[in-house]
Amino acid sequence: MYKFIDAHCHLTAPVQSVENGGYICNATRPSDWSCVLKFAEQNKNVAPCVGVHPWYVASAIGNWAQDMRDILIATPNAMVGEIGLDCARDNIAMQMSVFITQIELAAQLHRAIHVHCVRAWDKIAQIFRTQKFTLPVVFHGFHGNAQIVKMMSDLCDAYFSVSNADTDKMRNVILAIPRDKILVESDKNMGIGTRAIIRTMAQIAQIKSISESEITQNALQVIKNGQIGTDAFIIR
Ligand SMILES: [Zn+2]
Repeated sequence: MYKFIDAHCHLTAPVQSVENGGYICNATRPSDWSCVLKFAEQNKNVAPCVGVHPWYVASAIGNWAQDMRDILIATPNAMVGEIGLDCARDNIAMQMSVFITQIELAAQLHRAIHVHCVRAWDKIAQIFRTQKFTLPVVFHGFHGNAQIVKMMSDLCDAYFSVSNADTDKMRNVILAIPRDKILVESDKNMGIGTRAIIRTMAQIAQIKSISESEITQNALQVIKNGQIGTDAFIIR
C-alpha cells in the first residue's frame, strides 16, 4: 500500500523517478500525451491520463479526438484528464465542445475522468443531467462548498480532490465530502509537494476522523474503476 497517492499532478519538467507514493499524472494537450504515457510505462506507480485541458483547447486541432481514442485503446491503463471547463476564460463554446467529446470518449472506452472546473458547476451539472456517466469523475483542486458536493454527488460518481486543509472554508468543504470520495493532490510537477500532501492527509484524517490510508484507498478506487488494465498500477 502506498503511503499516499497524489490524485492530481503533472509532468511539466523532467523527473528522474518518483518513489514513496502513487501518482495520477495528467496530460494537458496532445503535445504532452506521449511524454506522460512514456513516464508511466517506466514507472509502475504512475497512472497516466491523456486529455485536453480547457486552457489548451486551441491545441485540439486536426484528428486530435481520433488520436486520443487510438491512444486510449492502445493504453488500457490510461484515464482521461485533464479536461474541464473554465469560465474565467472566454472561449467557452469551444471548451464545451472539446470537453463533451472527451467525456464521450471516456464513456465509450470505460475510463475515469479528471476534471478542472472554474465557475462552471452549472454547466457541468447540466452535461451530467443530459448524459449519464457512470465512471469516476474527479473534481480536482476542489474548494467549492457543501451544496456543490451534494449536487455533483447526486449526478455522477463524484470524487473531490483537495490540496490543503488550512482555512475554515476548506475544513468545512472537507467535512462535506463523503469519506469514501475525498482525495489529496499536489497539482504540481510529479514528486514536488510530497510534504504538503502528507501534511494535508493528516489534517483531513483528523477533520473527518478517518485513517489516512482511507484517502489512499479512495484514489485506488478511481484508478481501478477507471482503467481497463488495473494490473498496470502496482498496488503495494
Ligand atoms: Zn492540473
